[in-house]
Amino acid sequence: MDNEVLVQTSDWKNTKEAVANFRRLLLCSKCSDLMTEPVCLGICEHMLCRSCAGPRAGDGCVVCNSPAWVKDIQINRQLSSIIQLFSGLESLLNPREQPDSSLA
Ligand SMILES: [Zn+2]
Ligand SMILES: [Zn+2]
Repeated sequence: MDNEVLVQTSDWKNTKEAVANFRRLLLCSKCSDLMTEPVCLGICEHMLCRSCAGPRAGDGCVVCNSPAWVKDIQINRQLSSIIQLFSGLESLLNPREQPDSSLA
């Protein structure tokens, strides 16, 4: 019986790890938070919040200083939807109402 509990706990841990890995893909390269209005300048690997990317696309990437040739920053709507869905999923998995420090 103890074994069953252990297996369930480790499954849950794997789920949380998978979610944490997924989360890492959705973080802003600048502010390290979940991106709001994610943008990619298409010049490097970095993805940023619209507000973190700076006022003009032509200023280039604020993280690695790669120069940009694009005129306008395009918000990635698909990625934006994914982040919204992820936020919902995350709040289901990690309810913020009461800190569960006892489980840590
Ligand atoms: Zn940001
Ligand atoms: Zn960059």
